[in-house]
Amino acid sequence: MDIENAKIPQATAKRLPLYYRFINNLHSQGKMRVSSKELSEAVKVDSATIRRDFSYFGALGKKGYGYNVEYLLSFFRKTLDQDETTNVALIGVGNLGTAFLNYNFTKNNNTKIQIAFDASDDRIGDTVGGVPIKHIDELEEYIDGISVAILTVPAQAAQGIADRLVKANISGVLNFTPARITVPSSVRVHHIDLAVELQALVYFLKHYPLDGELE
Ligand code: ATP
Repeated sequence: MDIENAKIPQATAKRLPLYYRFINNLHSQGKMRVSSKELSEAVKVDSATIRRDFSYFGALGKKGYGYNVEYLLSFFRKTLDQDETTNVALIGVGNLGTAFLNYNFTKNNNTKIQIAFDASDDRIGDTVGGVPIKHIDELEEYIDGISVAILTVPAQAAQGIADRLVKANISGVLNFTPARITVPSSVRVHHIDLAVELQALVYFLKHYPLDGELE
């Protein structure tokens, strides 16, 4: 995201890729306008939040008219740097890592896993989903031009690898390990613990049953 958009609140920024995906679909269907109600139903964000988010983008929908799809799309493309591909490395080609390599991330946005690393000799030299797997010892050799890393290694390996990634000037880490990693404040870490998310969902289902209304 560029400097111009630094004033967008983080919670709004996190919803941008969600909006982008939906608006992109509408655009490919040839739709010119979308109302906040339609958007709200599709992306499951309440329409007041959508209106507030969109006001940060300078997109002012008119009552009964909605938002201009073309305008929104060009805004999202620019803001999310969709015109530029972000090169990603994946570290740890186990079950989860393999699934990510086979998943086509470029379908909806311009991020591309260019290279993967693993410590196990049997994986080295293979290609999964078109991505070559190198030995973790060769990380520094192949990390040039990569700005984001996905961590799918065992928890105990996470911090050591993070330290090497930081030294290699990586800017962002998507951490799928249960380990909380420490990095300098110039590096952004997003932590996704699938087991915790699942547990939280089950807890919420038990203790906060939904009444069928959108929040
Ligand atoms: P997952 O947790 O993704 O389901 P798994 O159960 O198959 O994976 P894990 O033990 O979690 O296996 O390891 C994930 C992958 O990380 C394995 O392919 C393993 O070889 C690799 N790995 C382990 N230690 C390191 C390390 N220090 N550097 C790079 N890769 C590593």
